[in-house]
Amino acid sequence: MPAAPSSATITNAVPVADPAAPATSSTATATATATATATATATAIATPAAAAAAAGLCLDCGLCCNGVLFDMVELQPGDLAKALTAKGLKIKKKRWFRQPCAALCEGTLCALYLDRPVRCRAFECRTYKAVAGSELSAEQARDRIAEARRQVVEVESLLGQFDELQTGKPLAQRVANVLAGQHAAALEKPEGNHPPAMSGDIGRVLALEQEMARLSTFLDEHFRI
Ligand code: SF4
Ligand code: SF4
Repeated sequence: MPAAPSSATITNAVPVADPAAPATSSTATATATATATATATATAIATPAAAAAAAGLCLDCGLCCNGVLFDMVELQPGDLAKALTAKGLKIKKKRWFRQPCAALCEGTLCALYLDRPVRCRAFECRTYKAVAGSELSAEQARDRIAEARRQVVEVESLLGQFDELQTGKPLAQRVANVLAGQHAAALEKPEGNHPPAMSGDIGRVLALEQEMARLSTFLDEHFRI
């Protein structure tokens, strides 16, 4: 989960993964498209060093807050919608807020760290848990994060080919919107009567579908709970 920002203009700044309290130092998010839900089960910490290693990962990641892993976060009992709104979160119907999170800054930092919602406190991704449990080295975990981010860049690049640049929306939703639009356009054309431009789009549509499916599988395997 993102760390607290170093900017002096943002209050409540503490490291995202506080080695002193590793079992509670992660974000929990829910998603409209992914089946992952947060778990409040604390990771079994193998050693203090493993806990610190896991905590440091989030500084290089941010995937659970930037709209890649999840689409939205549901508030839980104990979350105060009014207070969170006052702190900058855009709470919808007093129940949820969209990702990418408005409190995310510099890609991996949480501006609300000390006041973050319940799910944000509870969530620990698979990779975080594996490092905290000494089942995976920090270096291996960083390779996973780098690979996930590389695949995200691929998907973003393909979205750009459709002039889809709405980076303020969840990645899966952006892809779904493009695919729905392209499929609708294809259905309007009689079979075998696609103009050359449409044929090119079909190739890009397939590439986008495949790349997003690959990313989703990777995220399910290594990050979502
Ligand atoms: S996805 Fe995992 S490693 Fe990345 S910020 Fe969230 S908890 Fe930390
Ligand atoms: S408040 Fe936003 S940035 Fe902070 S941990 Fe929760 S989802 Fe992430």
